[in-house]
Amino acid sequence: MANLAPVLILPLFYKFTPLPEGELTQRLIALAERANTRVRGVFTMHLSSKTTAANAAVMGLGNTRRIVLGDTMLDRYTPDEIEVVLAHELGHHVHRDIWKLIISQSLLTLAGLYLINVGLHWAVETQHYYASLADAGTLPFVFLLTAIFGLIVMPIGNGYSRLLEDQADEYALQATRKVEAFKRAMTRLANQNLAEVEPSALVEFLFHSHPSVRKRLKHADEFAARHDLKASISEESSAPASSTEPAGMPSNGSSTPDTAH
Ligand SMILES: [Zn+2]
Repeated sequence: MANLAPVLILPLFYKFTPLPEGELTQRLIALAERANTRVRGVFTMHLSSKTTAANAAVMGLGNTRRIVLGDTMLDRYTPDEIEVVLAHELGHHVHRDIWKLIISQSLLTLAGLYLINVGLHWAVETQHYYASLADAGTLPFVFLLTAIFGLIVMPIGNGYSRLLEDQADEYALQATRKVEAFKRAMTRLANQNLAEVEPSALVEFLFHSHPSVRKRLKHADEFAARHDLKASISEESSAPASSTEPAGMPSNGSSTPDTAH
């Protein structure tokens, strides 16, 4: 499914256009190759009719894997900024984060079902609140236990996700060493995707799957200090990528937007 989706299903919902060969496509493909990720090319996805959120992603598996840029990103971000955002996504691929999330969530769900089972046995067999385990009257109690477990586990899942995001940021910084572009891209993404720049510590701890922008910028500064980089603005232009690479002929390609990771 993950293999076919970019080719068969996503074109039904989004319009894909191959990005013409050029400096940006070469840079993005080189970046993917350095991450040992073979891609079939670079495509743009027509998102602007549906959202103003910007995104870049690696989609598909095996021989359908491709780099996809939202037109919302291509129009407004410089090539350096796009490179950094894609490098972050490649970091997730290199670290196999999808698998880590699937496995960790499966384990948490399993643990949750086990604990709910224990709670239910306690309520029926020790406390005699209900006639039997099969009593439909136990359902509200089961829902209550599920809700409590969810509240306890949510910050754990989000904390793990923030750790993976932080590692993907580190990968992006190492792969590109473009600290200033990273900081600009993160700030712009947050503004465009309407993220809170500095949530309260508690709100971030409980609800946020991504580190706050302030923390990501700090990470970039620490990276620069660690590697003695004077955030080089040298080779970075401020023109949006689309002005250096006109969009090609429309055609149908494929894939879903992987919400700004
Ligand atoms: Zn991410």
